[in-house]
Amino acid sequence: MTSHSLLDDDTAKSSQTTFGCESSSACGLHPSVPNKDSSRRRFLQMTAGGAAAGLATAAGIEFAMPRPVLAQTTLSPDAALQELMDGNKRFTSERLTACEHDLAILKQHTIEKQEPFAAVLSCADSRVPIELVFDQSIGQIFVNRIAGNIATSEMIASLEYGAAVLGTKVILVMGHGGCGAVKATIQAKEVPGQISALFPHIQPAVDQAGPNLEAATKANAKIQAALLRQSSTVISGLVKTNKLKVVAAYYDIGSGAVSVLG
Ligand SMILES: [Zn+2]
Repeated sequence: MTSHSLLDDDTAKSSQTTFGCESSSACGLHPSVPNKDSSRRRFLQMTAGGAAAGLATAAGIEFAMPRPVLAQTTLSPDAALQELMDGNKRFTSERLTACEHDLAILKQHTIEKQEPFAAVLSCADSRVPIELVFDQSIGQIFVNRIAGNIATSEMIASLEYGAAVLGTKVILVMGHGGCGAVKATIQAKEVPGQISALFPHIQPAVDQAGPNLEAATKANAKIQAALLRQSSTVISGLVKTNKLKVVAAYYDIGSGAVSVLG
């Protein structure tokens, strides 16, 4: 598919229909209102298709333009974090843009390689859909999920791969409201199977913050982030040279807002 064909109105309409983006209730999309967010504009311009997106804006059809795979090497760790937080603002204000992306093109561009600009270590909880929460699409976030968002050696290995090989610029370690894994650790009751294998990883946060669920969850995110910074030579090396940022965060499942904990 060429950029010319993408500027065609009919093609644009068919893309929308294919990916269900014509429904404003489904993704908060308001096709008649161009995205005027300046930081978003700058971010779009950093991508390979920035010029094409500009043309589309002039033609008044920006809503239908695909967003190509990110040129993540141009993003600083701070800019990568900002992009996540900007995406979360779009999520909380129900003005998602990820479904404007042409998924066929994103898939095509990511067959041979991936260049996600961010990694997230989050809980497996079904109420924390990472791409939605940060308004991102295919190839943009290297998502690592495990109950309690704990930095086990396997998760550290995975995040090291994301940072050292794929070039992620920020790792967000995100706890969330109502976390069952943290709650179960606080309660310390008998649990079936191997569920209790999670508890030793979360216990230091409970020891530190006490039995309050939100406080313990926030402490856990900070502790897991610190573990990543300290126990991985790959990650600590990238952090020291300002090529990577590791940040703890908390997701409020009621409001949808992500707050950075530091
Ligand atoms: Zn959880």
